[in-house]
Amino acid sequence: MSALKQLHFPQTPEEAARLLARGDDVRCIAGGASLVAMMNLDLVDPVELVSLAEVAELRGISATPDGGLRIGAMTRHRELEAEARLAGPLAVLREAAGKVANPPVRNMGTIGGVVALADPAADYPSALVAADAVVELASERGRRRVPAREFFLGLYTTALAPAEIVSAILLPPAAPGVGLYDKLARVAGDHAIVAVALSVTRRADAGIAVGRAIGGGAPTPVHDPKVDALLAQGRLSDAAAAQAGAALAAAADPTDDVRASAEYRRLAIPRMVARAVARARDELERAR
Ligand SMILES: Cc1cc2nc3c(=O)[nH]c(=O)nc-3n(C[C@H](O)[C@H](O)[C@H](O)COP(=O)(O)OP(=O)(O)OC[C@H]3O[C@@H](n4cnc5c(N)ncnc54)[C@H](O)[C@@H]3O)c2cc1C
Repeated sequence: MSALKQLHFPQTPEEAARLLARGDDVRCIAGGASLVAMMNLDLVDPVELVSLAEVAELRGISATPDGGLRIGAMTRHRELEAEARLAGPLAVLREAAGKVANPPVRNMGTIGGVVALADPAADYPSALVAADAVVELASERGRRRVPAREFFLGLYTTALAPAEIVSAILLPPAAPGVGLYDKLARVAGDHAIVAVALSVTRRADAGIAVGRAIGGGAPTPVHDPKVDALLAQGRLSDAAAAQAGAALAAAADPTDDVRASAEYRRLAIPRMVARAVARARDELERAR
């Protein structure tokens, strides 16, 4: 039976964080897409809920002074999949948003909820790592910023401290280049068996810089700066993609689950990497 006794509607991130500090039985609720399902299954039984629905600062997408983007934690998946400013290398996030579940879930769920939950099969973590995003966190002590590459620590485990909320995702300025997210799933809308997030920047002087990560093949996104460098130096050639795929399959620690075996995932990773790299190379060529 639910122990829920109180629902709070704070107006600022700091007020939300202050309410969370009241105890371990207090949780925040964003879209409710995952939390309500977890409550129905008795996986969590909060006594108080802190709704983020009325915190105006957490909504919407705005430009930052450095030319990047600030995505409020309460931004829904459907807003992200329609966001034209997620272009070039940042399109990786737009494509990931469009591949989350189905329209009802995309209307309900928020980027902050996905990031805070850190489901290993979620679509955003690898896209955020590939795009070199930064997670902004708010608490009573103020704000702090953690690079996405350091934020996801393990299965449902992040750098989020108790009584702290995800307030925003910060993206670097869009540069010429391409971004893509390729998801292997049993049926459209299912969680990923393996996904590849690729974000490629074409620099006037230095050729290509690549950031990429694999989701669904390990508890946290698999990212290795050495593999990025290998792809960039190899100018996204088939040979570089094969080397990158092999390195990432070796670095991934896939598990068996209802969707696929670990062995299947290990075999899928190099193929997915090769496909993503070939598509990025084609798109860069066409954009010349
Ligand atoms: C049927 C179904 C299919 C799905 N398929 C996919 C899929 O294919 N790919 C995918 O990526 N995801 C999938 N999801 C998850 C979905 O994307 C949810 O939107 C996501 O888990 C976040 O949910 P939410 O924003 O509604 O957060 P909630 O459900 O409200 O909260 C989730 C958790 O995060 C905490 N939280 C929420 N916001 C914050 C915040 N700002 N700061 C700190 N903590 C916070 C809550 O306390 C709770 O513990 C699916 C969900 C469902 C129900």
